[in-house]
Amino acid sequence: MPRLYLDANATEPMRPEAITAMAEALALPGNPSSVHVEGRAARRILEEARETIAARFGARGRDLVFTSGGTEANALAIRGLAAGRRVLVGATEHPAVLAAAGPEAGVIPVLPDGTLDLGALEAALGAGGPTLVAVMAANNETGVLHPIEAIAELCRQHGALLHLDAVQMPGRLPFSLGPADSVALSAHKLGGPKGVGALLLRPGLDTAPLLTGGGQESGRRGGTEALPAIAGFAAAATCAQPEGLDALRDAIEAGVKALAPEVVIAGNSAPRLPNTTSLILPGVAAETQVIALDLAGVAVSAGAACSSGKVRQSHVLAAMGYGADAACAIRVSLPWNAGKDAVAQFLGAWGAMRERLAARKN
Ligand code: PLP
Repeated sequence: MPRLYLDANATEPMRPEAITAMAEALALPGNPSSVHVEGRAARRILEEARETIAARFGARGRDLVFTSGGTEANALAIRGLAAGRRVLVGATEHPAVLAAAGPEAGVIPVLPDGTLDLGALEAALGAGGPTLVAVMAANNETGVLHPIEAIAELCRQHGALLHLDAVQMPGRLPFSLGPADSVALSAHKLGGPKGVGALLLRPGLDTAPLLTGGGQESGRRGGTEALPAIAGFAAAATCAQPEGLDALRDAIEAGVKALAPEVVIAGNSAPRLPNTTSLILPGVAAETQVIALDLAGVAVSAGAACSSGKVRQSHVLAAMGYGADAACAIRVSLPWNAGKDAVAQFLGAWGAMRERLAARKN
Protein backbone atom coordinates (compact mmCIF):
# COMPACT_ATOMS: atom_id res chain seq x y z
CA MET A 1 0.00 0.00 0.00
CA PRO A 2 1.38 3.51 -0.77
CA ARG A 3 2.24 5.67 2.22
CA LEU A 4 -0.46 7.97 3.55
CA TYR A 5 0.64 11.52 4.40
CA LEU A 6 -1.60 13.09 7.06
CA ASP A 7 0.73 15.76 8.45
CA ALA A 8 -0.35 18.80 6.42
CA ASN A 9 -0.15 21.15 9.40
CA ALA A 10 3.58 20.41 9.60
CA THR A 11 3.84 21.13 5.90
CA GLU A 12 1.52 20.73 2.89
CA PRO A 13 2.63 18.82 -0.21
CA MET A 14 3.68 21.28 -2.90
CA ARG A 15 1.03 22.37 -5.39
CA PRO A 16 2.13 21.55 -8.97
CA GLU A 17 1.38 25.16 -9.93
CA ALA A 18 3.93 26.30 -7.34
CA ILE A 19 6.61 23.94 -8.66
CA THR A 20 6.08 25.25 -12.20
CA ALA A 21 6.26 28.89 -11.10
CA MET A 22 9.42 28.20 -9.10
CA ALA A 23 11.13 26.48 -12.00
CA GLU A 24 10.38 29.48 -14.24
CA ALA A 25 11.72 31.94 -11.68
CA LEU A 26 14.84 29.81 -11.08
CA ALA A 27 15.73 30.27 -14.72
CA LEU A 28 15.89 34.08 -14.35
CA PRO A 29 19.45 35.32 -13.88
CA GLY A 30 18.74 38.76 -12.43
CA ASN A 31 18.62 40.18 -8.92
CA PRO A 32 15.35 42.11 -8.37
CA SER A 33 17.35 45.07 -7.04
CA SER A 34 19.46 45.44 -10.19
CA VAL A 35 18.58 48.16 -12.69
CA HIS A 36 19.43 46.30 -15.94
CA VAL A 37 17.04 44.29 -18.10
CA GLU A 38 17.68 41.06 -16.19
CA GLY A 39 17.14 42.78 -12.85
CA ARG A 40 13.94 44.41 -14.05
CA ALA A 41 12.60 41.04 -15.26
CA ALA A 42 13.21 39.58 -11.80
CA ARG A 43 11.66 42.66 -10.18
CA ARG A 44 8.54 42.21 -12.31
CA ILE A 45 8.05 38.64 -10.99
CA LEU A 46 8.65 39.84 -7.43
CA GLU A 47 6.16 42.71 -7.63
CA GLU A 48 3.53 40.59 -9.40
CA ALA A 49 3.83 38.00 -6.63
CA ARG A 50 3.55 40.73 -4.00
CA GLU A 51 0.39 42.15 -5.57
CA THR A 52 -1.13 38.68 -6.04
CA ILE A 53 -0.58 37.56 -2.46
CA ALA A 54 -1.61 40.90 -0.96
CA ALA A 55 -4.82 41.01 -3.01
CA ARG A 56 -5.62 37.41 -2.10
CA PHE A 57 -5.55 38.32 1.60
CA GLY A 58 -7.13 41.77 1.51
CA ALA A 59 -3.96 43.85 1.81
CA ARG A 60 -2.07 46.29 -0.45
CA GLY A 61 1.11 45.18 -2.16
CA ARG A 62 3.10 47.99 -0.58
CA ASP A 63 2.05 46.72 2.87
CA LEU A 64 3.43 43.20 2.35
CA VAL A 65 6.93 42.29 3.57
CA PHE A 66 8.42 39.01 2.32
CA THR A 67 10.16 37.01 5.04
CA SER A 68 11.81 33.60 5.44
CA GLY A 69 8.56 32.11 6.76
CA GLY A 70 5.94 32.29 9.47
CA THR A 71 8.47 32.38 12.31
CA GLU A 72 10.20 35.49 10.95
CA ALA A 73 6.89 37.18 10.01
CA ASN A 74 5.65 36.75 13.59
CA ALA A 75 8.96 37.97 15.04
CA LEU A 76 9.01 41.00 12.71
CA ALA A 77 5.49 41.98 13.75
CA ILE A 78 5.88 41.38 17.46
CA ARG A 79 9.36 42.84 17.88
CA GLY A 80 8.69 45.58 15.35
CA LEU A 81 5.38 46.74 16.81
CA ALA A 82 5.97 46.15 20.51
CA ALA A 83 8.10 49.25 21.22
CA GLY A 84 6.44 51.06 24.13
CA ARG A 85 3.70 48.44 24.37
CA ARG A 86 3.19 45.46 26.61
CA VAL A 87 2.48 42.25 24.71
CA LEU A 88 -0.39 39.83 25.39
CA VAL A 89 -0.38 36.36 23.82
CA GLY A 90 -2.76 33.39 23.93
CA ALA A 91 -1.75 30.35 26.00
CA THR A 92 -1.87 28.05 22.97
CA GLU A 93 0.31 30.12 20.62
CA HIS A 94 2.98 28.59 18.45
CA PRO A 95 6.51 28.72 19.93
CA ALA A 96 7.40 31.28 17.23
CA VAL A 97 4.99 33.77 18.83
CA LEU A 98 5.78 32.84 22.43
CA ALA A 99 9.52 33.23 21.83
CA ALA A 100 9.15 36.57 20.02
CA ALA A 101 6.88 37.93 22.76
CA GLY A 102 9.38 36.92 25.45
CA PRO A 103 8.95 35.81 29.04
CA GLU A 104 7.57 39.15 30.19
CA ALA A 105 4.50 38.91 27.90
CA GLY A 106 1.09 38.45 29.53
CA VAL A 107 -0.51 35.09 28.75
CA ILE A 108 -4.27 34.96 28.15
CA PRO A 109 -5.76 31.55 29.03
CA VAL A 110 -8.00 29.52 26.76
CA LEU A 111 -11.32 27.89 27.59
CA PRO A 112 -11.50 24.06 27.73
CA ASP A 113 -12.56 24.04 24.05
CA GLY A 114 -9.30 25.81 23.11
CA THR A 115 -10.77 29.20 22.21
CA LEU A 116 -9.34 32.35 23.78
CA ASP A 117 -10.95 33.37 27.09
CA LEU A 118 -12.47 36.70 26.05
CA GLY A 119 -13.27 37.69 29.64
CA ALA A 120 -9.61 37.27 30.58
CA LEU A 121 -8.53 39.24 27.50
CA GLU A 122 -10.92 42.07 28.37
CA ALA A 123 -9.64 42.17 31.94
CA ALA A 124 -6.01 42.21 30.78
CA LEU A 125 -6.70 44.94 28.23
CA GLY A 126 -8.47 46.98 30.90
CA ALA A 127 -5.42 46.73 33.16
CA GLY A 128 -3.96 49.58 31.17
CA GLY A 129 -1.17 50.82 28.96
CA PRO A 130 -0.61 50.62 25.21
CA THR A 131 -0.82 46.98 24.23
CA LEU A 132 -0.06 44.60 21.37
CA VAL A 133 -2.19 41.45 21.32
CA ALA A 134 -0.69 38.54 19.35
CA VAL A 135 -2.92 35.50 18.81
CA MET A 136 -3.32 32.78 16.23
CA ALA A 137 -6.22 32.54 13.81
CA ALA A 138 -6.17 28.71 13.86
CA ASN A 139 -4.28 26.37 16.16
CA ASN A 140 -1.73 24.09 14.53
CA GLU A 141 -2.37 21.15 16.89
CA THR A 142 -6.16 21.12 17.30
CA GLY A 143 -7.34 23.30 14.40
CA VAL A 144 -9.38 25.38 16.90
CA LEU A 145 -10.27 28.85 15.55
CA HIS A 146 -10.10 31.80 17.91
CA PRO A 147 -13.07 34.24 17.77
CA ILE A 148 -11.12 36.81 15.76
CA GLU A 149 -13.93 39.33 15.25
CA ALA A 150 -14.64 39.46 18.98
CA ILE A 151 -10.93 39.71 19.82
CA ALA A 152 -10.52 42.52 17.27
CA GLU A 153 -13.49 44.38 18.74
CA LEU A 154 -12.00 44.21 22.25
CA CYS A 155 -8.66 45.43 20.89
CA ARG A 156 -10.41 48.29 19.12
CA GLN A 157 -12.30 49.30 22.26
CA HIS A 158 -9.04 49.42 24.26
CA GLY A 159 -6.89 50.98 21.53
CA ALA A 160 -4.65 47.88 21.33
CA LEU A 161 -2.87 46.63 18.21
CA LEU A 162 -3.82 43.12 17.02
CA HIS A 163 -1.32 40.80 15.34
CA LEU A 164 -2.66 37.53 13.92
CA ASP A 165 -0.57 34.41 13.36
CA ALA A 166 -2.63 33.13 10.43
CA VAL A 167 -0.08 30.56 9.27
CA GLN A 168 -2.52 27.62 9.45
CA MET A 169 -5.56 29.39 7.94
CA PRO A 170 -5.12 30.14 4.22
CA GLY A 171 -5.79 27.31 1.84
CA ARG A 172 -8.16 25.78 4.38
CA LEU A 173 -10.68 28.51 5.17
CA PRO A 174 -11.34 31.92 3.61
CA PHE A 175 -9.08 34.46 5.26
CA SER A 176 -8.17 38.12 4.98
CA LEU A 177 -6.36 40.81 6.96
CA GLY A 178 -9.81 42.11 7.98
CA PRO A 179 -9.78 43.89 11.32
CA ALA A 180 -6.18 42.92 12.23
CA ASP A 181 -3.26 45.35 12.22
CA SER A 182 -0.82 42.72 10.98
CA VAL A 183 -0.89 39.11 9.80
CA ALA A 184 1.82 36.44 9.52
CA LEU A 185 1.64 33.96 6.62
CA SER A 186 3.79 30.99 5.58
CA ALA A 187 3.92 29.55 2.06
CA HIS A 188 4.55 25.93 2.98
CA LYS A 189 1.29 25.63 4.88
CA LEU A 190 -0.70 26.40 1.75
CA GLY A 191 1.10 24.25 -0.79
CA GLY A 192 4.02 26.54 -1.54
CA PRO A 193 7.70 26.06 -0.74
CA LYS A 194 9.27 25.98 2.70
CA GLY A 195 11.39 28.95 3.77
CA VAL A 196 9.24 31.86 2.60
CA GLY A 197 6.42 33.79 4.21
CA ALA A 198 5.01 37.27 4.51
CA LEU A 199 3.92 39.90 6.96
CA LEU A 200 0.84 41.90 5.96
CA LEU A 201 0.38 45.30 7.54
CA ARG A 202 -2.73 47.45 7.62
CA PRO A 203 -2.31 50.65 5.59
CA GLY A 204 -0.34 53.27 7.50
CA LEU A 205 1.29 50.85 9.94
CA ASP A 206 5.04 50.24 9.82
CA THR A 207 7.44 47.93 11.62
CA ALA A 208 11.05 48.33 12.66
CA PRO A 209 13.21 45.86 10.67
CA LEU A 210 14.83 42.83 12.30
CA LEU A 211 17.38 42.61 9.48
CA THR A 212 18.98 45.66 7.98
CA GLY A 213 21.29 45.73 5.00
CA GLY A 214 20.54 46.52 1.39
CA GLY A 215 17.24 48.25 2.09
CA GLN A 216 15.12 45.62 0.36
CA GLU A 217 11.39 45.36 1.11
CA SER A 218 11.20 49.15 1.50
CA GLY A 219 13.77 48.98 4.30
CA ARG A 220 11.65 46.59 6.36
CA ARG A 221 13.72 43.47 5.69
CA GLY A 222 17.24 43.50 4.32
CA GLY A 223 18.48 40.71 2.07
CA THR A 224 17.94 39.67 -1.55
CA GLU A 225 14.42 38.31 -1.88
CA ALA A 226 14.04 34.53 -2.40
CA LEU A 227 12.52 35.06 -5.82
CA PRO A 228 11.80 31.43 -6.86
CA ALA A 229 10.23 30.68 -3.47
CA ILE A 230 8.17 33.89 -3.64
CA ALA A 231 6.92 32.98 -7.13
CA GLY A 232 5.91 29.55 -5.78
CA PHE A 233 4.19 31.20 -2.80
CA ALA A 234 2.08 33.40 -5.12
CA ALA A 235 1.11 30.45 -7.32
CA ALA A 236 0.08 28.34 -4.32
CA ALA A 237 -1.85 31.23 -2.77
CA THR A 238 -4.11 31.49 -5.80
CA CYS A 239 -5.01 27.78 -5.94
CA ALA A 240 -8.61 26.95 -5.13
CA GLN A 241 -9.29 25.78 -1.61
CA PRO A 242 -9.81 22.00 -1.35
CA GLU A 243 -13.38 20.87 -0.73
CA GLY A 244 -14.68 18.02 1.38
CA LEU A 245 -11.77 17.71 3.83
CA ASP A 246 -14.21 18.22 6.71
CA ALA A 247 -16.21 15.15 5.61
CA LEU A 248 -13.02 13.04 5.57
CA ARG A 249 -11.99 14.43 8.96
CA ASP A 250 -15.46 13.71 10.41
CA ALA A 251 -15.36 10.15 9.03
CA ILE A 252 -11.96 9.58 10.68
CA GLU A 253 -13.27 10.89 14.00
CA ALA A 254 -16.45 8.78 13.84
CA GLY A 255 -14.42 5.70 12.86
CA VAL A 256 -11.95 6.13 15.69
CA LYS A 257 -14.73 6.66 18.24
CA ALA A 258 -16.48 3.52 16.98
CA LEU A 259 -13.26 1.53 17.45
CA ALA A 260 -12.38 3.07 20.82
CA PRO A 261 -15.03 5.07 22.68
CA GLU A 262 -12.42 6.19 25.23
CA VAL A 263 -10.76 8.41 22.60
CA VAL A 264 -11.13 12.14 23.26
CA ILE A 265 -11.11 14.64 20.41
CA ALA A 266 -9.54 17.87 21.61
CA GLY A 267 -11.42 21.04 20.76
CA ASN A 268 -14.21 19.34 18.82
CA SER A 269 -16.92 21.54 20.35
CA ALA A 270 -15.25 24.70 18.97
CA PRO A 271 -15.12 25.90 15.35
CA ARG A 272 -12.09 24.20 13.76
CA LEU A 273 -10.08 23.98 10.57
CA PRO A 274 -11.74 21.40 8.29
CA ASN A 275 -8.57 19.32 7.87
CA THR A 276 -7.41 18.85 11.47
CA THR A 277 -8.20 16.49 14.34
CA SER A 278 -6.39 15.95 17.62
CA LEU A 279 -7.03 12.39 18.86
CA ILE A 280 -6.19 11.59 22.48
CA LEU A 281 -5.80 7.89 23.29
CA PRO A 282 -5.58 7.96 27.09
CA GLY A 283 -2.64 6.08 28.56
CA VAL A 284 -0.69 5.72 25.31
CA ALA A 285 2.21 8.11 24.75
CA ALA A 286 1.93 10.16 21.58
CA GLU A 287 5.39 9.07 20.51
CA THR A 288 4.39 5.39 20.66
CA GLN A 289 1.37 6.09 18.46
CA VAL A 290 3.30 8.17 15.94
CA ILE A 291 5.99 5.50 15.56
CA ALA A 292 3.45 2.64 15.28
CA LEU A 293 1.50 4.50 12.60
CA ASP A 294 4.69 5.42 10.75
CA LEU A 295 5.69 1.75 10.63
CA ALA A 296 2.21 1.01 9.27
CA GLY A 297 2.77 3.55 6.48
CA VAL A 298 0.85 6.51 7.91
CA ALA A 299 2.53 9.86 8.66
CA VAL A 300 0.94 11.88 11.48
CA SER A 301 2.54 13.91 14.23
CA ALA A 302 2.36 14.14 17.97
CA GLY A 303 -0.05 16.71 19.31
CA ALA A 304 2.98 18.50 20.68
CA ALA A 305 5.26 20.73 18.69
CA CYS A 306 8.12 18.47 17.87
CA SER A 307 10.53 20.82 16.27
CA SER A 308 13.74 18.89 16.81
CA GLY A 309 12.31 15.43 16.27
CA LYS A 310 11.65 15.12 20.00
CA VAL A 311 8.12 14.75 21.29
CA ARG A 312 7.22 16.89 24.28
CA GLN A 313 3.96 17.17 26.18
CA SER A 314 1.65 19.53 24.33
CA HIS A 315 1.42 22.98 25.93
CA VAL A 316 -1.72 23.49 23.85
CA LEU A 317 -3.56 20.51 25.31
CA ALA A 318 -2.19 21.27 28.78
CA ALA A 319 -3.64 24.81 28.49
CA MET A 320 -7.01 23.24 27.55
CA GLY A 321 -6.91 21.27 30.83
CA TYR A 322 -6.07 17.77 29.57
CA GLY A 323 -3.51 17.03 32.30
CA ALA A 324 -1.59 13.79 31.74
CA ASP A 325 -3.60 13.09 28.56
CA ALA A 326 -1.85 16.07 26.96
CA ALA A 327 1.03 13.67 26.25
CA CYS A 328 -1.24 11.12 24.52
CA ALA A 329 -2.52 13.01 21.47
CA ILE A 330 -1.77 12.58 17.81
CA ARG A 331 -2.55 15.24 15.26
CA VAL A 332 -4.06 14.08 12.00
CA SER A 333 -4.04 16.86 9.41
CA LEU A 334 -5.33 16.16 5.92
CA PRO A 335 -3.43 17.73 3.01
CA TRP A 336 -5.10 19.54 0.12
CA ASN A 337 -4.81 16.42 -2.08
CA ALA A 338 -6.26 13.89 0.39
CA GLY A 339 -8.61 11.40 -1.21
CA LYS A 340 -11.50 9.31 0.14
CA ASP A 341 -9.17 6.30 0.54
CA ALA A 342 -7.40 8.14 3.33
CA VAL A 343 -10.20 7.34 5.77
CA ALA A 344 -10.15 3.53 5.40
CA GLN A 345 -6.36 3.36 5.27
CA PHE A 346 -5.98 5.50 8.39
CA LEU A 347 -8.67 3.63 10.33
CA GLY A 348 -7.13 0.27 9.33
CA ALA A 349 -3.71 1.31 10.62
CA TRP A 350 -5.07 3.04 13.71
CA GLY A 351 -7.35 0.12 14.66
CA ALA A 352 -4.49 -2.40 14.29
CA MET A 353 -2.22 -0.16 16.38
CA ARG A 354 -4.76 0.09 19.17
CA GLU A 355 -5.43 -3.66 19.22
CA ARG A 356 -1.72 -4.40 19.45
CA LEU A 357 -1.23 -1.89 22.26
CA ALA A 358 -4.26 -3.27 24.13
CA ALA A 359 -2.94 -6.86 23.77
CA ARG A 360 0.42 -5.70 25.17
CA LYS A 361 -1.25 -4.20 28.25
CA ASN A 362 -3.23 -7.43 29.02
N1 PLP B 1 2.71 29.68 13.42
C1 PLP B 1 2.03 28.53 13.37
C2 PLP B 1 0.63 28.48 13.90
C3 PLP B 1 2.60 27.39 12.80
O1 PLP B 1 1.92 26.26 12.74
C4 PLP B 1 3.93 27.48 12.29
C5 PLP B 1 4.61 26.30 11.71
O2 PLP B 1 4.37 25.18 12.14
C6 PLP B 1 4.60 28.72 12.36
C7 PLP B 1 3.95 29.79 12.94
C8 PLP B 1 6.00 28.88 11.82
O3 PLP B 1 5.98 28.94 10.42
P1 PLP B 1 7.31 28.62 9.56
O4 PLP B 1 7.49 27.13 9.60
O5 PLP B 1 7.00 29.11 8.19
O6 PLP B 1 8.42 29.37 10.18
